[in-house]
Parts: sequence; C-alpha cells; structure tokens
Amino acid sequence: MRQQTKNKTLVVGLTGGIGSGKTAASDWFAEQGIDIIDADVIAHKVVDKGSITLRKIQKKFGDWVINAGGEMDRAAVRAHVFTHPEALIELEAITHPAIREAAKVQLAASTSAYVVLSAPLLIEASEAGLANLCQRILVIDVHEDTQLMRAGLRDEQSTAKIRAIMVNQLSREERNRHADDVITNEDDLAALRLQLQPLHQTYLTLAQQLKYAVD
Ligand code: ATP
Repeated sequence: MRQQTKNKTLVVGLTGGIGSGKTAASDWFAEQGIDIIDADVIAHKVVDKGSITLRKIQKKFGDWVINAGGEMDRAAVRAHVFTHPEALIELEAITHPAIREAAKVQLAASTSAYVVLSAPLLIEASEAGLANLCQRILVIDVHEDTQLMRAGLRDEQSTAKIRAIMVNQLSREERNRHADDVITNEDDLAALRLQLQPLHQTYLTLAQQLKYAVD
C-alpha cells in the first residue's frame, strides 16, 4: 500500500499507454458506481478561459498563448513546448500543481466506495504528484500493435502520430513495473470486464480496510 490520503478514501490510479483501454476500464468502474476522476479532463479545465492558471501561463510566456477568443491557443503552446523542452518544464510547473489541487477537490467530494483516478501519464509525470494521491496503481497493458490499431480505429489518427505519442510514454515494461495490478487487454471488451470484476472486489475490500484503519 502506498501513502494514505487524509480522507481515507481508497484511490486507484488507472493508467496505460495510448489506446490501451483506460476509458473502456473506467467506464466499467463507473457502471459499478465508482467515481472517476479524469486527469485529462482536469488538465483541460484548469486552463479554461479566464482561469488563474491561464493567466499565469500568459504572464510567463506572453500574450501569444491566448487566442482572439480569450482561450489558450493549445496548438501554439504545444508547438512551442515541443521545440523548447525547458518551456515544457516551466509550463508543467504551473499546470501540474493546479491539476493536483483540482484532483484533490474532486477526491474530497467523492462519496463512492473508492475512487478511480485515470491519468495517461500517472507514472511519467510523477512530479505532478498524482501518483502520490493513489494507494494502488492499475495498469491496462496491451501490445504496441494493438495500441496502434485501436487508437487508429478510434480517432483515425495516423500511425506516425500515435507512435510520436507513444515515444513520450513509458515502455510497457517500465510502466508495468510500477503497477500493483496489471490487466492485459488483448482480447475483447467482455474479457476486459471479466478481469476487472475480481479487481473491483479487491478494491472494495481494501477500501473497507482503509476506512477502518487506525491512524
Ligand atoms: P487514450 O489514452 O488514447 O485516451 P484509452 O487508454 O482511454 O486511450 P480506450 O479509448 O479505452 O483507450 O480504447 C481505445 C479504443 O479501443 C476505443 O475505441 C475502445 O473502444 C477500443 N477498445 C478498448 N478495449 C478494447 C477491447 N478489449 N476490444 C476491442 N476494442 C477495445
């Protein structure tokens, strides 16, 4: 077991490479009544038009980060940090604490038996501190060929684009090394759900133990 959160809610960090099946898994957990915190959704929300975080980014990088509509020019910012690695570090120093704080607010508001915190870069972006909010890490693992096929089918993204994203993600071996639980998602969706069921039972038990644990 990893570090405990103050509210003693079991937090399961859910991660995996692009197209591995994180959303398919979190949808299933949601169907069981489990609250899902989605780091991707939060990451978009913290830089909403008029947000403190967007103002900080503007102050750091300049007015060009804001488009005519007052929103963050995501394409311009993405292109900038792609060619300026130090700018990515500066950007993340602004966004990561905001993402973590927003995740903590959602966690505190959760009423389900346990919580699933889904984050594609849960392990990679350890400085964001999201992994520290989790007592358990669940990795959805698939072969690279399956990732390419499923992500390509879903978004009609080119193989080159998916590969470029995969390069910035951990290798399967490295990611799995950080996992408490690994699910292999090579078969169909029914097989995925069959594997999630016993894990859900385990998490319910762990959540009870955590709730009644003496500090
Ligand atoms: P990303 O990180 O890109 O958001 P993800 O890890 O959330 O991806 P999903 O969106 O859940 O991955 O899955 C990618 C695609 O593969 C989706 O279209 C999903 O329906 C499909 N998929 C996931 N698991 C399976 C499976 N076991 N069998 C068939 N299709 C699957």
